[in-house]
Amino acid sequence: MRLSVTDRCNLRCRYCMPEEGVCLKEHREMLTEEEMITAVEAAAALGIRKLRITGGEPLVKRNIVSICRRAAMMEGIEEVCLTTNGIFLPKLAEPLKAAGVKRINLSLDTLNPEKYAYITRIGTLEDFRAGFHAALDAGFEKVKINAVLIGGFNDDEILPLAELTRQYPVDMRFIEMMPMYDSGDFPEASFVPYTRVLEALPDAEPVPADGGVAKLYRLPGAQGNIGLISPLNAHFCGTCNRIRLTADGKVKPCLHSGDEYSLKGLDFDDMKAVLEQAIWNKPQWHGDLDAVNRSKAGRNMNQIGG
Ligand code: SAM
Ligand code: SF4
Repeated sequence: MRLSVTDRCNLRCRYCMPEEGVCLKEHREMLTEEEMITAVEAAAALGIRKLRITGGEPLVKRNIVSICRRAAMMEGIEEVCLTTNGIFLPKLAEPLKAAGVKRINLSLDTLNPEKYAYITRIGTLEDFRAGFHAALDAGFEKVKINAVLIGGFNDDEILPLAELTRQYPVDMRFIEMMPMYDSGDFPEASFVPYTRVLEALPDAEPVPADGGVAKLYRLPGAQGNIGLISPLNAHFCGTCNRIRLTADGKVKPCLHSGDEYSLKGLDFDDMKAVLEQAIWNKPQWHGDLDAVNRSKAGRNMNQIGG
């Protein structure tokens, strides 16, 4: 299960959320920490073993370390991972590691400072670098870097980004950009297929899949894998076992479906029943998705968690 702990963010990535930020919901509409923990407990009772904490930006959440610690200690939950833009990791990497977070994914679309400032609207590559090194120093079991592939923006940086797997003990993942609710007006040519990555990396050798939705490759001499995630061009819905819980308490059985089941205000038993119903109603596939056919999620990515 992916648990989004907030829809707020300290960056404004152009493909993810509007420049003005989130339309602030009332505090009482959002899940409390207790409700999030009860929801994780209900998910664990149904057999969910892995939890990924996401956002918005999870590290802007005041009680993030406590949420991670409580989830990591929960019976049945074998692994708590986190997806972050990394900016606040210099302060939080060690507390998160101590709280039991095993793996961490960092988002990085470019190695060029001007392009980083452009795509995030307000971020600096220098801050990202500090967070990245804090993650490496903290000793997480795995550090992965996620790049959203954007034609005309970073498709000329596939090789330098992939080279990070030779320089550092990290995995690099390229994700096809998904056209969400109103997150950016990218031209059709920006939606590039994952096959572009393979063209740019002729030396990459396939490696066996690890049960996730990524196709895996490795560069000769690399310390980590390269993963390709292609929601647009290679449907993986048949093997997707994820469910998502948004910060306002909606279970989404599919990232790109408008179906939502509310957990807000429910007790453990009712949360468990609703989660079970959502799982049974997982759609068979997420429908056509391309520059023209936008996601039916009805939310931007910061309001879902990726
Ligand atoms: N703020 C954190 C971060 O950026 O890692 C966590 C939340 S963010 C919504 C989770 C992931 O979704 C990030 O890797 C981000 O790049 C990805 N993402 C956001 N919008 C996307 C889009 N339109 N298409 C594909 N991936 C997207
Ligand atoms: Fe924030 Fe992550 Fe969305 Fe970028 S991708 S705006 S860092 S939530």
